[in-house]
Amino acid sequence: MTSSFRIINGRVYDPANGVDGVVRDVCIQDGRIVAAAAPGARTIDAAGMVVMPGGVDIHCHIAGPKVNLARKVQPEDHRRDVHLRTRFTRSGTGGTVPSTFATGYRYAALGYTAAMEAAVTPLGARHTHEELHDTPVIDKGFYVLVGNNVLLYRLLQEGRREEFRHALAWWLNAAKAYAPKLVNPGGDEMWKGKGQGNITDLDDTIASFDLTPRKVIGAFIEAANDLGLPHPVHIHCNNLGHSGNVETTLETMRIADGRRAHITHVQFHSYGSVAGKSHDNPTSRARDIAEFVNTHPNISADVGAVMFGRATIMTADAPAVYMLRQFGGAKWVNADTEHESGCGIIPFTYQDRSYTNALQWAIGLELFLLSDDPWRMVFSTDHPNGGSFTSYPRLIRLLMDREYRKEQMAKVNQKALEHSGLRDCQDREYSLYEIAIVTRAGPARLLGLASKGHLGVGADADVAIYDDDPDREKMFRTPRYLLKDGLPIIEDHEFRADHEGRLFHVAPEYDSGIERVIEPFFDDYYSIQFRNYPVDDRYLHRAELVPTVQQAAEAARP
Ligand SMILES: [Zn+2]
Repeated sequence: MTSSFRIINGRVYDPANGVDGVVRDVCIQDGRIVAAAAPGARTIDAAGMVVMPGGVDIHCHIAGPKVNLARKVQPEDHRRDVHLRTRFTRSGTGGTVPSTFATGYRYAALGYTAAMEAAVTPLGARHTHEELHDTPVIDKGFYVLVGNNVLLYRLLQEGRREEFRHALAWWLNAAKAYAPKLVNPGGDEMWKGKGQGNITDLDDTIASFDLTPRKVIGAFIEAANDLGLPHPVHIHCNNLGHSGNVETTLETMRIADGRRAHITHVQFHSYGSVAGKSHDNPTSRARDIAEFVNTHPNISADVGAVMFGRATIMTADAPAVYMLRQFGGAKWVNADTEHESGCGIIPFTYQDRSYTNALQWAIGLELFLLSDDPWRMVFSTDHPNGGSFTSYPRLIRLLMDREYRKEQMAKVNQKALEHSGLRDCQDREYSLYEIAIVTRAGPARLLGLASKGHLGVGADADVAIYDDDPDREKMFRTPRYLLKDGLPIIEDHEFRADHEGRLFHVAPEYDSGIERVIEPFFDDYYSIQFRNYPVDDRYLHRAELVPTVQQAAEAARP
Protein backbone atom coordinates (compact mmCIF):
# COMPACT_ATOMS: atom_id res chain seq x y z
CA MET A 1 0.00 0.00 0.00
CA THR A 2 1.40 3.37 -1.01
CA SER A 3 2.09 5.80 1.81
CA SER A 4 2.42 8.96 -0.25
CA PHE A 5 -0.62 10.95 -1.38
CA ARG A 6 -1.56 14.24 -2.93
CA ILE A 7 -5.19 15.23 -2.36
CA ILE A 8 -6.05 17.84 -4.98
CA ASN A 9 -8.99 20.10 -5.89
CA GLY A 10 -10.78 19.62 -2.55
CA ARG A 11 -12.15 22.49 -0.48
CA VAL A 12 -10.11 22.33 2.71
CA TYR A 13 -11.44 23.23 6.17
CA ASP A 14 -8.56 23.36 8.63
CA PRO A 15 -9.48 25.87 11.36
CA ALA A 16 -6.34 25.31 13.44
CA ASN A 17 -4.40 26.78 10.52
CA GLY A 18 -7.03 29.36 9.57
CA VAL A 19 -7.95 27.56 6.33
CA ASP A 20 -11.64 28.21 5.58
CA GLY A 21 -12.85 26.38 2.50
CA VAL A 22 -9.81 27.09 0.33
CA VAL A 23 -9.10 24.79 -2.61
CA ARG A 24 -5.57 23.57 -1.98
CA ASP A 25 -3.48 20.41 -1.97
CA VAL A 26 -3.04 18.26 1.10
CA CYS A 27 0.09 16.13 0.89
CA ILE A 28 0.93 13.03 2.89
CA GLN A 29 4.13 11.12 3.38
CA ASP A 30 4.74 8.23 5.82
CA GLY A 31 1.69 8.93 7.94
CA ARG A 32 2.22 12.68 8.28
CA ILE A 33 1.04 15.81 6.54
CA VAL A 34 3.94 17.27 4.52
CA ALA A 35 4.43 20.43 2.46
CA ALA A 36 4.94 18.57 -0.83
CA ALA A 37 4.37 14.95 -1.80
CA ALA A 38 7.18 12.73 -3.04
CA PRO A 39 7.43 12.04 -6.78
CA GLY A 40 5.17 9.16 -7.69
CA ALA A 41 2.69 9.95 -4.91
CA ARG A 42 -0.83 8.72 -5.54
CA THR A 43 -3.26 11.50 -6.43
CA ILE A 44 -6.76 11.68 -4.98
CA ASP A 45 -8.96 14.07 -6.93
CA ALA A 46 -11.30 15.65 -4.39
CA ALA A 47 -13.09 17.99 -6.80
CA GLY A 48 -16.58 18.74 -5.44
CA MET A 49 -15.54 17.41 -2.04
CA VAL A 50 -14.78 18.81 1.38
CA VAL A 51 -11.50 17.93 3.09
CA MET A 52 -11.23 18.01 6.88
CA PRO A 53 -9.02 16.53 9.56
CA GLY A 54 -10.47 13.33 11.03
CA GLY A 55 -13.09 13.86 13.75
CA VAL A 56 -12.05 13.83 17.42
CA ASP A 57 -14.62 12.83 20.06
CA ILE A 58 -13.68 14.37 23.40
CA HIS A 59 -16.25 12.46 25.45
CA CYS A 60 -17.87 9.09 24.84
CA HIS A 61 -18.28 5.71 26.50
CA ILE A 62 -16.88 2.95 24.32
CA ALA A 63 -14.76 0.59 26.42
CA GLY A 64 -14.32 -0.92 29.86
CA PRO A 65 -16.36 -2.80 32.45
CA LYS A 66 -19.43 -0.52 32.51
CA VAL A 67 -19.66 -0.46 28.72
CA ASN A 68 -19.41 -4.23 28.69
CA LEU A 69 -22.12 -4.47 31.32
CA ALA A 70 -24.34 -2.24 29.15
CA ARG A 71 -23.76 -4.63 26.24
CA LYS A 72 -24.73 -7.60 28.37
CA VAL A 73 -27.91 -5.90 29.55
CA GLN A 74 -29.15 -5.49 25.95
CA PRO A 75 -28.78 -8.80 24.11
CA GLU A 76 -31.73 -7.79 21.90
CA ASP A 77 -29.48 -5.11 20.36
CA HIS A 78 -27.01 -7.75 19.25
CA ARG A 79 -29.74 -9.60 17.39
CA ARG A 80 -31.30 -6.44 15.96
CA ASP A 81 -28.11 -4.91 14.58
CA VAL A 82 -25.53 -7.34 13.25
CA HIS A 83 -22.35 -5.74 11.91
CA LEU A 84 -21.20 -8.01 9.13
CA ARG A 85 -17.59 -8.77 8.37
CA THR A 86 -16.12 -7.69 5.07
CA ARG A 87 -12.99 -8.72 3.25
CA PHE A 88 -11.06 -6.17 5.31
CA THR A 89 -13.00 -5.70 8.53
CA ARG A 90 -14.29 -7.91 11.33
CA SER A 91 -17.82 -8.59 12.48
CA GLY A 92 -19.59 -7.30 15.56
CA THR A 93 -22.86 -6.09 16.97
CA GLY A 94 -24.31 -2.60 17.01
CA GLY A 95 -27.15 -0.93 18.84
CA THR A 96 -26.42 1.99 21.13
CA VAL A 97 -23.43 0.17 22.67
CA PRO A 98 -21.62 -1.49 19.77
CA SER A 99 -19.01 -4.18 20.28
CA THR A 100 -15.37 -3.10 20.10
CA PHE A 101 -14.83 -3.83 16.40
CA ALA A 102 -18.12 -2.23 15.37
CA THR A 103 -17.31 0.84 17.50
CA GLY A 104 -14.03 1.50 15.69
CA TYR A 105 -15.44 0.88 12.20
CA ARG A 106 -18.60 2.92 12.78
CA TYR A 107 -16.61 5.90 14.05
CA ALA A 108 -14.33 5.63 11.03
CA ALA A 109 -17.38 5.34 8.77
CA LEU A 110 -18.40 8.85 9.95
CA GLY A 111 -14.94 10.31 9.30
CA TYR A 112 -13.84 10.14 12.95
CA THR A 113 -10.30 9.11 13.77
CA ALA A 114 -10.07 9.58 17.56
CA ALA A 115 -12.37 9.07 20.56
CA MET A 116 -11.77 9.36 24.29
CA GLU A 117 -13.51 6.97 26.69
CA ALA A 118 -14.67 9.25 29.47
CA ALA A 119 -15.05 7.21 32.67
CA VAL A 120 -12.93 4.29 33.79
CA THR A 121 -12.24 3.15 37.34
CA PRO A 122 -8.55 2.52 37.97
CA LEU A 123 -9.50 -1.08 38.78
CA GLY A 124 -11.13 -1.31 35.35
CA ALA A 125 -8.14 0.19 33.54
CA ARG A 126 -6.59 -3.13 32.48
CA HIS A 127 -9.85 -4.34 30.96
CA THR A 128 -10.30 -0.96 29.26
CA HIS A 129 -6.84 -1.14 27.68
CA GLU A 130 -7.68 -4.59 26.34
CA GLU A 131 -10.92 -3.36 24.80
CA LEU A 132 -9.32 -0.22 23.36
CA HIS A 133 -6.64 -2.44 21.81
CA ASP A 134 -9.55 -4.33 20.27
CA THR A 135 -11.16 -1.14 18.88
CA PRO A 136 -9.90 -0.70 15.31
CA VAL A 137 -8.89 2.31 13.20
CA ILE A 138 -9.40 5.16 15.70
CA ASP A 139 -6.97 6.65 18.21
CA LYS A 140 -8.15 6.50 21.79
CA GLY A 141 -7.42 7.02 25.44
CA PHE A 142 -9.45 7.29 28.62
CA TYR A 143 -10.18 9.47 31.64
CA VAL A 144 -9.76 7.81 35.01
CA LEU A 145 -12.34 8.21 37.77
CA VAL A 146 -10.73 9.80 40.81
CA GLY A 147 -13.42 12.14 42.16
CA ASN A 148 -14.81 9.72 44.76
CA ASN A 149 -11.55 7.99 45.64
CA VAL A 150 -11.43 7.24 49.36
CA LEU A 151 -7.66 7.49 49.83
CA LEU A 152 -7.47 10.77 47.90
CA TYR A 153 -10.27 12.07 50.13
CA ARG A 154 -8.32 11.09 53.24
CA LEU A 155 -5.24 12.96 52.05
CA LEU A 156 -7.35 16.03 51.29
CA GLN A 157 -9.14 15.89 54.59
CA GLU A 158 -5.82 15.85 56.41
CA GLY A 159 -4.59 18.83 54.41
CA ARG A 160 -1.82 16.80 52.75
CA ARG A 161 -2.14 18.68 49.45
CA GLU A 162 1.31 17.85 48.11
CA GLU A 163 0.86 14.14 48.75
CA PHE A 164 -2.60 14.43 47.20
CA ARG A 165 -1.00 15.73 44.01
CA HIS A 166 1.64 12.97 44.02
CA ALA A 167 -1.07 10.34 44.60
CA LEU A 168 -3.18 11.71 41.74
CA ALA A 169 -0.13 11.55 39.46
CA TRP A 170 0.57 8.01 40.68
CA TRP A 171 -3.00 6.97 39.82
CA LEU A 172 -2.80 8.47 36.32
CA ASN A 173 0.44 6.53 35.81
CA ALA A 174 -0.93 3.32 37.33
CA ALA A 175 -3.99 3.32 35.05
CA LYS A 176 -2.07 4.67 32.02
CA ALA A 177 -4.90 7.14 31.66
CA TYR A 178 -5.15 10.44 29.81
CA ALA A 179 -6.88 12.76 32.27
CA PRO A 180 -8.50 12.82 35.71
CA LYS A 181 -12.29 12.60 35.74
CA LEU A 182 -14.66 13.73 38.48
CA VAL A 183 -18.23 12.44 38.55
CA ASN A 184 -20.66 13.89 41.06
CA PRO A 185 -17.83 14.41 43.56
CA GLY A 186 -18.86 13.26 47.02
CA GLY A 187 -21.99 11.55 45.74
CA ASP A 188 -20.69 7.98 46.02
CA GLU A 189 -19.93 8.18 49.72
CA MET A 190 -23.43 9.53 50.39
CA TRP A 191 -24.99 6.92 48.14
CA LYS A 192 -23.11 4.00 49.68
CA GLY A 193 -24.03 5.20 53.15
CA LYS A 194 -27.26 5.06 55.08
CA GLY A 195 -30.46 6.16 53.35
CA GLN A 196 -29.13 6.27 49.79
CA GLY A 197 -28.22 9.93 50.03
CA ASN A 198 -26.66 12.21 47.46
CA ILE A 199 -24.93 15.56 47.25
CA THR A 200 -27.37 18.41 46.65
CA ASP A 201 -25.08 21.39 47.22
CA LEU A 202 -21.39 22.16 46.74
CA ASP A 203 -21.15 22.95 50.43
CA ASP A 204 -22.72 19.69 51.68
CA THR A 205 -20.52 17.66 54.00
CA ILE A 206 -19.43 14.44 52.27
CA ALA A 207 -20.62 11.59 54.50
CA SER A 208 -18.05 10.93 57.23
CA PHE A 209 -15.37 13.15 55.68
CA ASP A 210 -14.59 16.66 56.76
CA LEU A 211 -14.86 17.67 53.11
CA THR A 212 -17.28 19.32 50.70
CA PRO A 213 -17.60 18.92 46.92
CA ARG A 214 -16.34 22.51 46.64
CA LYS A 215 -13.08 21.58 48.41
CA VAL A 216 -12.68 18.38 46.41
CA ILE A 217 -13.27 20.05 43.02
CA GLY A 218 -10.93 22.93 43.87
CA ALA A 219 -8.18 20.53 44.92
CA PHE A 220 -8.40 18.50 41.70
CA ILE A 221 -8.43 21.61 39.50
CA GLU A 222 -5.35 22.87 41.31
CA ALA A 223 -3.49 19.53 41.17
CA ALA A 224 -4.25 18.94 37.46
CA ASN A 225 -3.00 22.45 36.64
CA ASP A 226 0.12 22.02 38.81
CA LEU A 227 0.88 18.69 37.11
CA GLY A 228 0.73 20.47 33.73
CA LEU A 229 -1.57 17.84 32.23
CA PRO A 230 -2.40 18.27 28.52
CA HIS A 231 -6.14 18.11 29.33
CA PRO A 232 -7.40 19.64 32.59
CA VAL A 233 -9.65 17.91 35.08
CA HIS A 234 -12.79 16.68 33.29
CA ILE A 235 -15.79 17.44 35.48
CA HIS A 236 -19.25 15.86 35.55
CA CYS A 237 -20.88 18.29 37.98
CA ASN A 238 -23.10 17.47 40.95
CA ASN A 239 -26.90 17.38 40.57
CA LEU A 240 -26.93 15.97 37.04
CA GLY A 241 -30.46 15.93 35.60
CA HIS A 242 -32.11 17.81 38.46
CA SER A 243 -34.32 20.84 37.91
CA GLY A 244 -32.48 23.94 39.10
CA ASN A 245 -29.01 22.37 38.78
CA VAL A 246 -27.74 25.37 36.77
CA GLU A 247 -26.72 27.12 40.00
CA THR A 248 -24.47 24.18 40.94
CA THR A 249 -22.92 24.19 37.47
CA LEU A 250 -22.23 27.94 37.48
CA GLU A 251 -20.76 27.73 40.97
CA THR A 252 -18.57 24.76 39.94
CA MET A 253 -17.16 26.82 37.07
CA ARG A 254 -16.52 29.69 39.49
CA ILE A 255 -14.39 27.37 41.67
CA ALA A 256 -11.88 27.18 38.80
CA ASP A 257 -11.19 30.89 39.37
CA GLY A 258 -9.15 31.44 36.22
CA ARG A 259 -7.57 27.97 36.14
CA ARG A 260 -8.40 25.54 33.35
CA ALA A 261 -11.30 23.14 33.83
CA HIS A 262 -13.48 21.16 31.42
CA ILE A 263 -17.19 20.79 32.17
CA THR A 264 -18.64 17.79 30.41
CA HIS A 265 -22.12 17.13 28.92
CA VAL A 266 -23.12 20.56 30.14
CA GLN A 267 -26.60 20.18 28.63
CA PHE A 268 -27.48 17.81 31.48
CA HIS A 269 -26.42 20.55 33.92
CA SER A 270 -28.23 23.59 32.45
CA TYR A 271 -31.66 23.23 34.00
CA GLY A 272 -33.68 25.88 35.77
CA SER A 273 -36.78 25.27 37.78
CA VAL A 274 -40.23 26.79 37.80
CA ALA A 275 -40.53 29.50 40.46
CA GLY A 276 -37.77 27.98 42.57
CA LYS A 277 -39.39 24.53 42.82
CA SER A 278 -36.62 21.93 42.57
CA HIS A 279 -38.93 18.97 41.88
CA ASP A 280 -41.00 20.48 39.12
CA ASN A 281 -40.39 20.26 35.37
CA PRO A 282 -37.04 21.74 34.38
CA THR A 283 -36.66 24.89 32.29
CA SER A 284 -33.75 25.96 30.09
CA ARG A 285 -30.94 28.01 31.57
CA ALA A 286 -28.68 27.38 28.58
CA ARG A 287 -28.22 31.13 28.11
CA ASP A 288 -26.61 31.54 31.56
CA ILE A 289 -24.26 28.62 30.95
CA ALA A 290 -23.32 29.78 27.44
CA GLU A 291 -22.70 33.31 28.71
CA PHE A 292 -20.47 32.07 31.50
CA VAL A 293 -18.40 29.93 29.14
CA ASN A 294 -18.27 32.73 26.55
CA THR A 295 -16.78 35.13 29.09
CA HIS A 296 -14.39 32.72 30.89
CA PRO A 297 -11.58 31.54 28.58
CA ASN A 298 -10.27 29.15 31.25
CA ILE A 299 -13.46 27.07 30.97
CA SER A 300 -14.26 24.62 28.20
CA ALA A 301 -17.24 22.34 27.80
CA ASP A 302 -18.72 19.66 25.61
CA VAL A 303 -22.44 19.85 25.03
CA GLY A 304 -23.78 16.34 25.61
CA ALA A 305 -26.67 16.96 23.24
CA VAL A 306 -29.77 14.78 23.39
CA MET A 307 -31.05 13.16 20.20
CA PHE A 308 -34.46 11.51 19.98
CA GLY A 309 -34.53 7.75 19.81
CA ARG A 310 -32.73 4.98 21.61
CA ALA A 311 -29.86 5.63 23.99
CA THR A 312 -28.18 3.97 26.92
CA ILE A 313 -27.64 5.93 30.09
CA MET A 314 -24.33 4.76 31.56
CA THR A 315 -22.52 6.75 34.16
CA ALA A 316 -20.45 6.58 37.30
CA ASP A 317 -23.19 8.76 38.82
CA ALA A 318 -25.07 5.88 40.46
CA PRO A 319 -27.64 8.00 42.33
CA ALA A 320 -28.60 9.82 39.10
CA VAL A 321 -29.37 6.48 37.48
CA TYR A 322 -31.37 5.39 40.50
CA MET A 323 -33.48 8.56 40.04
CA LEU A 324 -33.87 7.90 36.30
CA ARG A 325 -34.91 4.27 36.65
CA GLN A 326 -38.51 5.36 37.29
CA PHE A 327 -38.63 6.80 33.74
CA GLY A 328 -36.32 4.35 32.02
CA GLY A 329 -38.36 1.21 31.57
CA ALA A 330 -37.66 -2.37 32.42
CA LYS A 331 -33.96 -2.78 33.10
CA TRP A 332 -31.36 -1.05 35.17
CA VAL A 333 -28.08 -1.85 36.88
CA ASN A 334 -26.31 -0.23 39.78
CA ALA A 335 -22.84 -1.24 40.95
CA ASP A 336 -19.89 -0.07 43.04
CA THR A 337 -16.18 -0.53 42.38
CA GLU A 338 -14.51 -0.86 45.78
CA HIS A 339 -13.19 2.54 46.95
CA GLU A 340 -13.14 4.10 43.53
CA SER A 341 -16.53 4.76 41.99
CA GLY A 342 -20.16 3.84 41.47
CA CYS A 343 -21.91 2.93 38.24
CA GLY A 344 -25.43 2.85 36.82
CA ILE A 345 -26.90 1.73 33.49
CA ILE A 346 -30.38 2.12 31.94
CA PRO A 347 -31.47 1.53 28.35
CA PHE A 348 -33.48 4.66 27.53
CA THR A 349 -35.54 6.18 24.70
CA TYR A 350 -35.76 9.96 24.26
CA GLN A 351 -39.18 10.93 22.94
CA ASP A 352 -39.99 14.14 21.09
CA ARG A 353 -43.46 14.29 22.74
CA SER A 354 -42.01 14.17 26.25
CA TYR A 355 -41.68 17.59 27.88
CA THR A 356 -38.38 16.79 29.57
CA ASN A 357 -36.78 15.05 26.58
CA ALA A 358 -37.82 17.82 24.18
CA LEU A 359 -36.43 20.41 26.59
CA GLN A 360 -33.12 18.52 26.80
CA TRP A 361 -32.95 18.39 23.00
CA ALA A 362 -33.64 22.14 22.80
CA ILE A 363 -31.04 22.98 25.46
CA GLY A 364 -28.35 21.05 23.60
CA LEU A 365 -29.05 23.06 20.45
CA GLU A 366 -29.26 26.32 22.40
CA LEU A 367 -25.82 25.76 23.92
CA PHE A 368 -24.33 25.40 20.45
CA LEU A 369 -26.26 28.33 18.98
CA LEU A 370 -25.44 30.69 21.88
CA SER A 371 -21.74 29.83 21.95
CA ASP A 372 -19.42 32.65 20.86
CA ASP A 373 -16.35 30.43 20.87
CA PRO A 374 -16.78 27.04 19.18
CA TRP A 375 -13.22 26.15 20.27
CA ARG A 376 -14.47 25.87 23.86
CA MET A 377 -18.04 24.57 23.43
CA VAL A 378 -17.45 21.37 21.53
CA PHE A 379 -19.48 18.55 20.08
CA SER A 380 -20.74 15.50 21.99
CA THR A 381 -23.87 13.54 22.78
CA ASP A 382 -22.07 11.92 25.70
CA HIS A 383 -22.44 8.75 23.60
CA PRO A 384 -24.50 6.69 24.30
CA ASN A 385 -26.12 8.80 27.06
CA GLY A 386 -27.72 11.58 25.00
CA GLY A 387 -27.77 9.42 21.88
CA SER A 388 -25.44 7.23 19.86
CA PHE A 389 -22.41 8.70 18.10
CA THR A 390 -24.07 7.46 14.92
CA SER A 391 -26.55 10.36 15.34
CA TYR A 392 -23.75 12.95 14.90
CA PRO A 393 -24.58 13.61 11.22
CA ARG A 394 -28.16 14.52 12.14
CA LEU A 395 -26.95 16.81 14.91
CA ILE A 396 -24.61 18.49 12.43
CA ARG A 397 -27.57 19.07 10.09
CA LEU A 398 -29.60 20.55 12.95
CA LEU A 399 -26.80 23.05 13.55
CA MET A 400 -26.17 23.88 9.88
CA ASP A 401 -29.67 23.95 8.40
CA ARG A 402 -32.17 26.24 10.13
CA GLU A 403 -35.09 25.24 7.87
CA TYR A 404 -34.57 21.61 8.82
CA ARG A 405 -34.26 22.66 12.45
CA LYS A 406 -37.55 24.57 12.27
CA GLU A 407 -39.26 21.49 10.80
CA GLN A 408 -37.98 19.40 13.67
CA MET A 409 -38.96 22.03 16.24
CA ALA A 410 -42.54 21.86 14.96
CA LYS A 411 -42.66 18.16 15.82
CA VAL A 412 -41.56 18.29 19.45
CA ASN A 413 -43.42 19.05 22.66
CA GLN A 414 -44.33 22.73 22.24
CA LYS A 415 -44.57 23.49 25.94
CA ALA A 416 -40.93 22.45 26.26
CA LEU A 417 -39.95 24.82 23.46
CA GLU A 418 -41.72 27.64 25.31
CA HIS A 419 -39.57 26.91 28.36
CA SER A 420 -36.41 26.94 26.26
CA GLY A 421 -34.79 29.84 24.43
CA LEU A 422 -34.38 27.93 21.17
CA ARG A 423 -36.78 30.15 19.20
CA ASP A 424 -34.70 33.20 20.16
CA CYS A 425 -31.54 31.83 18.56
CA GLN A 426 -33.02 29.83 15.71
CA ASP A 427 -31.59 32.01 12.92
CA ARG A 428 -27.98 31.00 13.48
CA GLU A 429 -26.50 28.37 11.20
CA TYR A 430 -23.14 26.74 11.75
CA SER A 431 -20.72 26.97 8.84
CA LEU A 432 -18.55 24.06 7.70
CA TYR A 433 -15.64 25.90 9.29
CA GLU A 434 -17.42 25.98 12.65
CA ILE A 435 -18.40 22.31 12.31
CA ALA A 436 -14.73 21.53 11.67
CA ILE A 437 -13.92 23.39 14.91
CA VAL A 438 -16.49 21.73 17.20
CA THR A 439 -15.94 18.20 15.86
CA ARG A 440 -12.17 18.23 15.23
CA ALA A 441 -9.91 21.18 15.82
CA GLY A 442 -11.53 22.28 19.10
CA PRO A 443 -11.55 18.90 20.85
CA ALA A 444 -7.96 18.19 19.72
CA ARG A 445 -6.81 21.54 21.12
CA LEU A 446 -8.68 21.04 24.41
CA LEU A 447 -7.07 17.62 24.70
CA GLY A 448 -3.61 19.07 24.07
CA LEU A 449 -3.09 16.69 21.12
CA ALA A 450 -0.76 18.79 18.96
CA SER A 451 -0.71 16.42 15.99
CA LYS A 452 -4.50 15.89 15.85
CA GLY A 453 -7.41 17.91 14.55
CA HIS A 454 -5.50 19.81 11.89
CA LEU A 455 -3.82 19.44 8.50
CA GLY A 456 -0.68 21.50 9.05
CA VAL A 457 2.76 20.14 8.23
CA GLY A 458 3.74 17.51 10.81
CA ALA A 459 0.18 16.59 11.80
CA ASP A 460 -0.84 12.93 11.77
CA ALA A 461 -2.35 12.24 8.37
CA ASP A 462 -5.92 11.61 9.56
CA VAL A 463 -8.05 13.03 6.76
CA ALA A 464 -11.78 12.77 6.06
CA ILE A 465 -13.06 13.66 2.60
CA TYR A 466 -16.80 14.15 2.17
CA ASP A 467 -18.97 14.71 -0.91
CA ASP A 468 -20.18 18.31 -0.64
CA ASP A 469 -23.87 17.43 -0.37
CA PRO A 470 -26.33 20.20 0.60
CA ASP A 471 -28.01 17.62 2.85
CA ARG A 472 -25.40 17.84 5.59
CA GLU A 473 -26.72 14.76 7.37
CA LYS A 474 -26.21 12.68 4.25
CA MET A 475 -22.82 14.28 3.70
CA PHE A 476 -21.46 13.57 7.19
CA ARG A 477 -23.12 10.13 7.31
CA THR A 478 -20.40 8.62 5.14
CA PRO A 479 -17.07 10.03 3.97
CA ARG A 480 -15.99 9.32 0.42
CA TYR A 481 -12.44 8.73 1.70
CA LEU A 482 -10.88 8.27 5.09
CA LEU A 483 -7.14 8.22 5.54
CA LYS A 484 -5.81 7.21 8.94
CA ASP A 485 -2.10 7.65 9.66
CA GLY A 486 -1.77 8.22 5.93
CA LEU A 487 -3.36 4.89 4.99
CA PRO A 488 -6.49 4.71 2.84
CA ILE A 489 -8.98 2.97 5.12
CA ILE A 490 -12.15 3.99 3.25
CA GLU A 491 -12.38 4.67 -0.48
CA ASP A 492 -15.60 5.33 -2.38
CA HIS A 493 -17.47 4.87 0.91
CA GLU A 494 -16.11 1.34 1.40
CA PHE A 495 -13.52 -0.10 3.75
CA ARG A 496 -10.33 -1.01 1.93
CA ALA A 497 -8.12 -1.81 4.92
CA ASP A 498 -8.09 -2.47 8.64
CA HIS A 499 -5.85 -0.55 11.00
CA GLU A 500 -4.92 -0.05 14.64
CA GLY A 501 -4.92 3.49 16.02
CA ARG A 502 -2.84 4.94 18.83
CA LEU A 503 -3.38 4.87 22.57
CA PHE A 504 -2.77 8.24 24.24
CA HIS A 505 -1.76 8.40 27.89
CA VAL A 506 0.07 10.66 30.30
CA ALA A 507 2.78 9.97 32.85
CA PRO A 508 3.10 13.01 35.12
CA GLU A 509 6.02 13.10 37.56
CA TYR A 510 5.49 12.18 41.21
CA ASP A 511 7.57 11.52 44.30
CA SER A 512 7.85 7.73 44.54
CA GLY A 513 7.64 8.08 48.33
CA ILE A 514 3.87 8.35 47.83
CA GLU A 515 3.77 4.58 47.27
CA ARG A 516 4.55 4.13 50.99
CA VAL A 517 1.32 6.01 51.69
CA ILE A 518 -0.78 4.18 49.11
CA GLU A 519 0.42 0.60 49.67
CA PRO A 520 -0.85 0.15 53.26
CA PHE A 521 -4.28 1.37 52.14
CA PHE A 522 -4.32 -1.43 49.57
CA ASP A 523 -3.31 -4.01 52.15
CA ASP A 524 -6.16 -2.92 54.39
CA TYR A 525 -9.00 -2.29 51.95
CA TYR A 526 -8.49 -3.49 48.38
CA SER A 527 -9.27 -6.92 46.93
CA ILE A 528 -6.14 -6.68 44.78
CA GLN A 529 -2.50 -6.58 45.85
CA PHE A 530 -0.70 -3.27 45.44
CA ARG A 531 1.97 -4.67 43.13
CA ASN A 532 -0.66 -6.20 40.82
CA TYR A 533 -2.64 -2.99 40.50
CA PRO A 534 -0.72 -0.76 38.07
CA VAL A 535 -1.24 -1.57 34.40
CA ASP A 536 2.10 -2.66 32.97
CA ASP A 537 3.52 -1.80 29.58
CA ARG A 538 2.47 -5.09 27.98
CA TYR A 539 -1.06 -3.69 27.83
CA LEU A 540 0.03 -0.76 25.71
CA HIS A 541 -0.13 -1.06 21.93
CA ARG A 542 0.88 1.79 19.62
CA ALA A 543 0.99 3.90 22.75
CA GLU A 544 1.93 7.56 22.60
CA LEU A 545 2.88 9.35 25.77
CA VAL A 546 1.60 12.91 25.64
CA PRO A 547 3.92 15.12 27.72
CA THR A 548 2.95 17.39 30.57
CA VAL A 549 3.90 21.06 30.27
CA GLN A 550 6.99 20.35 32.39
CA GLN A 551 8.02 17.29 30.34
CA ALA A 552 7.55 19.21 27.07
CA ALA A 553 9.73 22.06 28.38
CA GLU A 554 12.37 19.56 29.49
CA ALA A 555 12.39 17.87 26.06
CA ALA A 556 12.71 21.24 24.29
CA ARG A 557 15.78 22.22 26.32
CA PRO A 558 18.96 22.02 24.21
ZN1 LIG B 1 -20.16 10.69 29.89
